[in-house]
Amino acid sequence: MPQNPERIVDHVDLFKQPEYKQLFENKRKEFEGAHSAEEVERVAEWTKSWEYREKNFAREALTVNPAKGCQPLGAMFAALGFEGTLPFVQGSQGCVAYFRTHLSRHYKEPCSAVSSSMTEDAAVFGGLNNMIEGLQVSYQLYKPKMIAVCTTCMAEVIGDDLGAFITNAKNAGSVPQDLPVPFAHTPSFVGSHTTGYDNMMRGILSSLTEGKKGKANGKVNFIPGFDTYVGNNRELKRILGLMGIDYTILSDTSDYFDSPNTGEYEMYPGGTKLEDAADAINGKATVALQAYTTAKTREYIAKSWNQEAKVLRPFGVKGTDEFLMALSELTGKAIPEELEIERGRLVDAITDSYAWLHGKKFAIYGDPDLIISVTSFLLEVGAEPVHILCNNGDGEFKQELQAILDASPFGKEATIWLGKDLWHFRSLLFTEPVDFFVGNSYGKYLWRDTKIPMVRIGYPLFDRHHLHRYATLGYQGGINLLTWVVNTLLDEIDRNTNITGKTDISFDLIR
Ligand code: SF4
Repeated sequence: MPQNPERIVDHVDLFKQPEYKQLFENKRKEFEGAHSAEEVERVAEWTKSWEYREKNFAREALTVNPAKGCQPLGAMFAALGFEGTLPFVQGSQGCVAYFRTHLSRHYKEPCSAVSSSMTEDAAVFGGLNNMIEGLQVSYQLYKPKMIAVCTTCMAEVIGDDLGAFITNAKNAGSVPQDLPVPFAHTPSFVGSHTTGYDNMMRGILSSLTEGKKGKANGKVNFIPGFDTYVGNNRELKRILGLMGIDYTILSDTSDYFDSPNTGEYEMYPGGTKLEDAADAINGKATVALQAYTTAKTREYIAKSWNQEAKVLRPFGVKGTDEFLMALSELTGKAIPEELEIERGRLVDAITDSYAWLHGKKFAIYGDPDLIISVTSFLLEVGAEPVHILCNNGDGEFKQELQAILDASPFGKEATIWLGKDLWHFRSLLFTEPVDFFVGNSYGKYLWRDTKIPMVRIGYPLFDRHHLHRYATLGYQGGINLLTWVVNTLLDEIDRNTNITGKTDISFDLIR
């Protein structure tokens, strides 16, 4: 049917037209060899059963929707929080296109990173020439202050030696000798984006601080970890400002991934100044806001900088209390009244919503540190975790989380699943349903299947706008988390009670 350019039909309406319906039906029959609708329905129902759950959990050789990303994605994220930094990925172009679009789709912001575009010849002879040419072109075209190099699986499988390659490239004159070119090996067949973040953060800090040990600067360093809420770094800075604490954030992606539209394109907005990062070695202490994205970095800081490197999680009432008290103890600065008032507001907000949350059963999946912070907060408001699924968590994470669950009267029913994917999560939701679940945008397919209300918290969030702009840490962040959860439940009650004269007994104006 010819289209009228004055009246372009949206695809939703377009594909309802008879010719498209016929086309889809033909495709199903002729090319896909599809089973009958009844058979599809029968198998779909069976996949909701306990019998299928047991088969699903016996699965070993296949991962379906893994709930984690590749190492270089996390490495790029860590690098982009430093001033003027261009991530350079030694490996195949397709991988890098995926990392860039993944971050761009979440933030609705451009994400600059280059790839050395290794192809078959590099796979056979090694990627040294790609590195020499790639660094030269990147430096000349994009004028970065630092190029942070990581790898994809391809470069790792053939065994490219980044340290030697970068030295060779500098000797060949690709980039100036004094240009910082830190690197991290980031093979995606082990670990996840959280490991990649840690590897790159350690690589950058060790490169920038080499030979910089000097006079103590009295500052506290903060490592946010793979935290994709730009509001969190801003909230952290506000809290530190209120307390009068001098700090360096390693690294700060908040301006890069939330840059203003001024009409001028800026390739490297914001970021931690390289000189501040180099001086971090002379700081008073380092505080990581996540544990499992910073393990190697903290170990490096403790050993090489001879600096205390602790984990503090400023999430929920208890977490934020502990965070502020620890900062006060570390710096000798008092906790200002303004923060005490904010605490009172969060406690008040929890009291307002408690009746709707107490005893509500939930499931959650995501990165280890996100799970710990969100689950701790939900336990504080009386919600009860049932399924906790973490593909990229390890034994230490399980132990820490189990201790949190054991310490709460609401954590008794929870099971922690490590190394499982979202298809496992689906079986859990069907066989042991919950009142709501928490996850990233990939969970919307589970929401559609199971009809269980979903709260979008985590990364990536592709299908809702602006959630990443909010803070989730501190007392203010607690109010945001509370708002998202309680209103999801109230929306669901409205949805279930909205038939006039039939189910609207509880379709209330006031909740
Ligand atoms: S798993 Fe390896 S090859 Fe695949 S996208 Fe990630 S880095 Fe590239």
